[in-house]
Amino acid sequence: MTRWHSFLRSFGDLLFDRRCAACGTSLDPALTDAPAAHRVFCPLCADALAPMEGCRCTRCADLFASARRNHVCGDCLRHPPPFDTVLCDLQYGGPLAQAIARFKYGPRPTLAAPLSTLLSIQPVSVDVAVPVPLSRSRLISRGFNQAALLAAAAARCRHIPVDAFSLRRREGETQVGKTGAQRRRDLSRVFFVQRRNAFSGRRVLLVDDVVTTGATVRAAATILRREGGAASVTVLCLARTTTGP
Ligand SMILES: [Zn+2]
Ligand SMILES: [Zn+2]
Repeated sequence: MTRWHSFLRSFGDLLFDRRCAACGTSLDPALTDAPAAHRVFCPLCADALAPMEGCRCTRCADLFASARRNHVCGDCLRHPPPFDTVLCDLQYGGPLAQAIARFKYGPRPTLAAPLSTLLSIQPVSVDVAVPVPLSRSRLISRGFNQAALLAAAAARCRHIPVDAFSLRRREGETQVGKTGAQRRRDLSRVFFVQRRNAFSGRRVLLVDDVVTTGATVRAAATILRREGGAASVTVLCLARTTTGP
């Protein structure tokens, strides 16, 4: 290997973390053609991942404990979400939760490249990728927005631009001790668009690392449509918490 090649290799290693994203074990460099999960996690952690398998809600992607086909869940029927659907291939938990925690709180922004290879590539008609924003103080303390790094990767692979500036987040108060209804009310005020109709008529791919209750992406999608003028919003996330099966 020439000195130039070894320089490129170490530069590549810097960009693409070659250790298990969850436990830090060194990965076999020969695994370049392995499935994405085995290029990101060691065999033990890869086997412990929980794919989003089974029937799911066609809107929020929550899995059903017992259903024979995909349909809209009761929650989404009662309160139709402002987004069309949630694209996600993996359930939150285990090694994936560990990897996301290392990515965000490590903080290890270099995990963005390997983790973004786990994003769903399900085809969908979208025009622009938009990350769920962090507040300014959170961005300063963490140094990067994990959703923006994932959105950039998703935009590259879907050949669409990324807009990480038009959707903004106000400084939030602490949510500790607040009820679900109070949190939802706070969230409805937390997002705003830099310029009215910034997404006029465009189909937005809203990207976040984890979707839990869905309250955050609901609030962001509402603003994207109501104030940003977006024609539609599709949510893309790395992991989703599920209530079943
Ligand atoms: Zn591992
Ligand atoms: Zn649903």
